[in-house]
Amino acid sequence: MAKAANLGFPRIGARRELKRALDAHWAGRLSAAELAAEAAGLRARHWQAQKAAGIDVIPSNDFSLYDHVLDTTAMLGAVPARFDAAGERVNPETCFAMARGTAEAPAMEMTKWFDTNYHYIVPEIAHGQQFQLASPKPVEEFLEAQALGVHTRPVLLGPVTWAALGKARETGVDPLAAVPAILPIYEQVLLRLAAAGADWVQIDEPILVTDLSDDQRRALASAYGRLGRAGPKVMLATYFGGLGDNLALALGLPVAGLHLDLVRDPAQLGRVLAAGTDKVLSLGLIDGRNVWRADLSAAHAMAEAAARLHGGDRIEIAPSCSLLHVPVDLDAEETLEADLREWLAFAHQKLAEVATLARAIRGEDAAEAFRASDSAKAARAASRRIHDPAVAARAAGVTAADLCRASVFCDRQHAQAESLPLPLFPTTTIGSFPQTAEVRHARAEHRRGTLDDAGYEAFLKAETAACIRRQEALGLDMLVHGEFERNDMVEYFGERLAGFAFTRMGWVQSYGSRCVKPPLIFGDVSRPEPMTVDWARFAQSLTERPVKGMLTGPVTILQWSFVRDDQPRSETCRQIALAIRDEVADLEGAGVRAIQIDEPALREGLPLRRAEREAYLSWAVDSFRLAASPVRDETQIHTHMCYSEFNDIMPAIATLDADVISIEASRSDMELLRVFGEVGYPNAIGPGIWDIHSPRVPPLAEMTALLARAAEVIPAERLWVNPDCGLKTRGWPEVEASLKTLVAAAQGLRQQALAAE
Ligand code: GLN
Ligand code: ZN
Repeated sequence: MAKAANLGFPRIGARRELKRALDAHWAGRLSAAELAAEAAGLRARHWQAQKAAGIDVIPSNDFSLYDHVLDTTAMLGAVPARFDAAGERVNPETCFAMARGTAEAPAMEMTKWFDTNYHYIVPEIAHGQQFQLASPKPVEEFLEAQALGVHTRPVLLGPVTWAALGKARETGVDPLAAVPAILPIYEQVLLRLAAAGADWVQIDEPILVTDLSDDQRRALASAYGRLGRAGPKVMLATYFGGLGDNLALALGLPVAGLHLDLVRDPAQLGRVLAAGTDKVLSLGLIDGRNVWRADLSAAHAMAEAAARLHGGDRIEIAPSCSLLHVPVDLDAEETLEADLREWLAFAHQKLAEVATLARAIRGEDAAEAFRASDSAKAARAASRRIHDPAVAARAAGVTAADLCRASVFCDRQHAQAESLPLPLFPTTTIGSFPQTAEVRHARAEHRRGTLDDAGYEAFLKAETAACIRRQEALGLDMLVHGEFERNDMVEYFGERLAGFAFTRMGWVQSYGSRCVKPPLIFGDVSRPEPMTVDWARFAQSLTERPVKGMLTGPVTILQWSFVRDDQPRSETCRQIALAIRDEVADLEGAGVRAIQIDEPALREGLPLRRAEREAYLSWAVDSFRLAASPVRDETQIHTHMCYSEFNDIMPAIATLDADVISIEASRSDMELLRVFGEVGYPNAIGPGIWDIHSPRVPPLAEMTALLARAAEVIPAERLWVNPDCGLKTRGWPEVEASLKTLVAAAQGLRQQALAAE
């Protein structure tokens, strides 16, 4: 009999209870015991809710107080020496120290989990790293559910993915070499789970949907040669893509079950069925990465084919991946328009879809749910709120010429040198200035209605004016308006564009207690009216120095939203690009001489498979160029990115053809600039010389040294001087002190250049 299964449930709680509890605990307002009780309450509610939704296979150990990769690191006892974990057992406080750092020990690194916006704590593997079973969490949570009358399938992050995501502490250490050493610990955990009554476990190996090295393939084969036989039956979960060339490998592993992501790669079902296997197949038919209601009839057709060919008792119906990546409950969204709501499904609704499909496969009556799904699908396909023929026509009419500036960079550079009064090594900042308590307070008052529109605007104008004066006093060359009117760099634009909607409670965990509430792009995107022009004009009116207009780029807006699934992402991105293009043109028309289009998310959109990267980069770059190109040569286009791995996307970065790019560089000690030098990056670059992630004010010598290193790689006429990123999380004292130093560093370099002439 086909079962309904789940791979993971959101941890934060429908009202972000976990976030509140964690923040209170870290602030000393909630004891460890109270935090543990709150977490147990969430787990209990989530298990019961899944049971009530008709889910037969309910996960445990999918919960985490901070991060499941960190929990796995704790389970394996791989605590870096600097955290000096006393005792055998790694407790939550040690995990928090590892994730957040302490006064003595810097935090472990954090990075994005595959192609999601969820961040995990990167395992650190030292030379001769010792491992031991140091957290019984998987067993404890299994027993906890048992005691509540819920029999679960515990979830473990697989050893090969864990090791592959790890980072060596020293050069010459291969994280993957840790696999043989951690397998005995996995075996112990599996045996303990079996003893506790677990008949199945889910082991996640999302690495199987990526391009594997030979070592990784070998590691997988040897790991599952052991774990597949150790204790409970293993449901090997793959997600975020298709198995592709790893399909035979996965089918050959001696595990009892295999989960397939059939949302990202529906075609792999046919290949698996054709290959034939005696494994239980878990069909990931409900999208765990997006918020749209499923097309149940289409999903049913696939499930039924599988049931027919493989046997209904050997299939499970499941979400494509853990529901960690979607908001908790659509029922909390009373304020969303009724038609839009009809098209959506959050975690609770997705589980109902999973259960419905399983019921239908079992031959039980589910006709009502299918009718509702069909009618929502038809309504969405025909909705006038979604389809704007003018937008579609304009997007279809984009030509190659629309993607190009009128002249090549060096001609533009001459034109800009004439029109912009800038010295050698011009100084600038990335856009935002401190969002102080007063700024946030005024915004909250305005939202609540206790501060009226006029009062709020007056406040923002005063902040902007003060910010311009401070920048002038500091001696910066290219100013910014400060972004005080913006809550968030994507939300601000989404709120002003057609085709976007916002939820009230659609929170998704980003890392630890941090959650984001991505906008929903549900329809064709257009710009009813200018979005930033008034602020840009106002700021420019206050000073003789050029003020940069400040926009978020199309790829970043796309990447940080839930995107409609009824057309290719590239198409939606192009529509956003056209809206931004209009804004760029209007800014120029209002007398703005430099416009920055931020693309901090360009790199994170990179597909997991190398073969798909070129196509992505091509449309992503085109979108940026479409947005950036309607201006005259004299208008200087800036872009900004804040990550420091450019190696594999360097050609794309160059193809953006921005006049100036500012990048995060200070923490890499300018190392990353080497690749800009090597490929002969043609345009101007501002490598960050101040790490804005901490309140520390770097001494002049340090900034000077970084700048000197940059000057070795980048010719003087193409080198800008700026911080790593925006300053909104910083306080004014360190901002003033650091920018003063930054300006002094630039002046020093100018004097040197003069003396050398
Ligand atoms: N202009 C934005 C700011 O300064 C850029 C933020 C970012 O790169 N994430 O805040
Ligand atoms: Zn940045």
